[in-house]
Amino acid sequence: MDATVGSGEGVPVGPDAARRPTPASVPAHAVPVAGVGFRGWRWEATDSETTGRPDPALLPAGHAVAVVPAAVLEATPKMLVMDVDSTLIRQEVIELLAAHAGREAEVAAVTEAAMRGELDFAQSLHHRVQALAGLEAAVIEDVVAAVEPNPGAREVIEAFHGAGWQVCAVSGGFTQVLAPLAADLGLDRYRANDLEIVEGRLTGRVLGTVVDRAVKAEMLRLWSAEAGVAQPGVMAVGDGANDIDLLHAAGLAVAFCAKPALREHADVELDVPSLDVLRILAGL
Ligand SMILES: [Mg+2]
Repeated sequence: MDATVGSGEGVPVGPDAARRPTPASVPAHAVPVAGVGFRGWRWEATDSETTGRPDPALLPAGHAVAVVPAAVLEATPKMLVMDVDSTLIRQEVIELLAAHAGREAEVAAVTEAAMRGELDFAQSLHHRVQALAGLEAAVIEDVVAAVEPNPGAREVIEAFHGAGWQVCAVSGGFTQVLAPLAADLGLDRYRANDLEIVEGRLTGRVLGTVVDRAVKAEMLRLWSAEAGVAQPGVMAVGDGANDIDLLHAAGLAVAFCAKPALREHADVELDVPSLDVLRILAGL
């Protein structure tokens, strides 16, 4: 990725950028970026311009630089593949379910360890879903109602669709919650785990192959192949260790307000809590 830095675009970001003077490291031909939850600057850089990538040490506190290679910007069509829990939505769905079972703290501790990469995801999922055994399936409706898309989610989906591109979501969470969310947001494709329900209650098991980090990457490759999107045109976004393979499979890998375990695998570390920034990275 570094080799193509000079032909990409830089997007310095910072939540308070509008109240600050333009940093000296931002070139004069940069244009302001606004309306995506923060104000920053965007500019194109040639191979010979070292200004394409300001020294982070020269940037004021709260600013960051995202370098998007030209191959990513020029790819068309494009596809956006997002993780769901703590990426597309603010919450972790399994914690919302666990709260109904009165086991929220226990499940949250396992989730945290899994997202830090300390536990095998499939094992940790089975352990957490076991804690939901006996829960009335009707609570799923309450959880669906409680799910909140992250700021900018609808805007970036609308922008991608406006360009004729696809938006997909792949989740280590649950189909019973993702399906209505996908319908609400107009997602083109989605995949998650199926909670087993017998006689109106969760059994504490999931059906079929667990959507773990490897399956997430497989879905990205499958969906992009089916849609005729070349790898440089695929943007993947996630926040946890379970998204490492997903990010490696993409043309542009974005860590969204992410756990440390994921950041080293990302091309862009996005710490502004607005998914709308993704459309800037996509050139929209
Ligand atoms: Mg997540």
